[in-house]
Order: sequence, then C-alpha cells, then structure tokens
Amino acid sequence: MASGNRPALEVTGLRKSYRSAGEDIAVLRGVNLAVAAGESVALTGESGSGKSTLLHLIAGLDAADGGEIILDGVSLSELGDAGRAALRRDRLGLVFQQFNLIPSLTVSDNLTFQSRIAGRHDPKWHDELVERLGLAHLLKRYPEQLSGGQQQRVAIGRALAPKPLLLLADEPTGNLDEETADEVLALARDLVARTGCGFLMVTHSARLAALLDRRVNLHAGVIA
Ligand code: ADP
Ligand code: MG
Repeated sequence: MASGNRPALEVTGLRKSYRSAGEDIAVLRGVNLAVAAGESVALTGESGSGKSTLLHLIAGLDAADGGEIILDGVSLSELGDAGRAALRRDRLGLVFQQFNLIPSLTVSDNLTFQSRIAGRHDPKWHDELVERLGLAHLLKRYPEQLSGGQQQRVAIGRALAPKPLLLLADEPTGNLDEETADEVLALARDLVARTGCGFLMVTHSARLAALLDRRVNLHAGVIA
C-alpha cells in the first residue's frame, strides 16, 4: 500500500489536567499534532512534560478534558469504552518500555496474540515479521529466556502483526543499551515503512529522535 498522506492521527486542542493535593495541574494545554500514514514522528520533552499522558489519551486508555483525537477519521470522544477498546485492538499497536510480553506464552504465541484477538492474523505477514525481526530461531522460547533487545523485537512484531493504522511507542528502547536501541529502532522504523502505518514514539534521546522523519517537542503543555 502506498503510504500517501492520509492522516492516521489528528489531535487538536487536547487538554488534560490532574488533580493533585487539592489543585488542578494542567499537563496538556491545547496540544495539536498530526501523524500521516507512513510517517514516523519522535515526541520529545523533559521528564514530566506529559508525553506518556498524551500517548495514553491517544490510545483511549484515559479520557481528555477537552479537544479532539481523530483516528482513521473517527473521533475518540464519539466512542464509548467498548468502542475505544475495539479501536485500540483493531487499529493501534502499542509498545512500552517494559516489553509487556505474556510470560506463559512462547515467542510464537506472543507474536500472534494481538492479531488473533483482532481477527487479523495473516500468516504471510507473520512469516515476514519473524524473518525481518530475526526471531526464527527463538519462536519456541519464553520471554524470560530472551535478552531485552530480543523481547522488544517480539513486542514490536506483536504490535505490528495486525497491521495497525498507528504504532504508539513510549520510550521503547529505554531499557536497552545504545547499540541495541539503535538496532531495534531501525527495525521498527523499516517495518513501519513497510506497513505504511503511522509511528509516534516518545523518546528522551535526540540521537534516536533524529532517526525518525520528524521530531516534535512537548513543552509547557503544548507542541510548539
Ligand atoms: P512524561 O511522560 O513526559 O514524563 P507524564 O505524562 O508521565 O510525563 O506526566 C506528566 C505530569 O502529569 C507529571 O507531572 C505527572 O506527575 C502527572 N501525572 C501523570 N499521571 C498522573 C496521574 N494519574 N495522576 C496525577 N498526576 C499525574
Ligand atoms: Mg513518560
């Protein structure tokens, strides 16, 4: 599929506050952000600037106070909990710093878990993911028998197996050494380009941010 410029994600005027010690702390104060299909964007910002909050809202894991999030032309605020869960399952890939593989499942079963739940298992794409991620010799192992870099490659494969519209990653290489982080990110970027999905990745690292198409910075509650 040609990537084109179809927006995978459109965020406008997004606001979110947390109540802490009797006070409302405004974390997001009108965030605007668009990610096109086939585009990879690094989201940077100092610790506590609201990067994870923004990703959680986009994933529909928490509700915004105002503004709009449009995924594939659908506004999240128009969906109930079940609708948001279905959208997350069918259209989003999520990768976190802590890998979050299922310990009781083999690499093979971890890889197909998401796509089977979503009813989108594609054996040909699965085989290609295994090959490109270099996981063929690890399929029968369990997560605890893998290195951090190997675990994150499985997590990326799992997230991309259903061919999501948008891959969201929150400091996905934060637990990896520099060399492994570069390798894993290069793989993720190439696979994202192959699927034509959008990619939004939170990172602290200017070096890693430079590997993506574009960088945006969250500061004082807005993306300037
Ligand atoms: P980042 O990912 O950029 O480090 P976060 O989005 O995790 O930032 O947090 C942004 C701010 O919101 C921080 O000040 C944090 O303490 C606060 N915060 C995050 N989640 C909650 C929550 N569930 N309840 C109260 N405050 C929160
Ligand atoms: Mg964070």
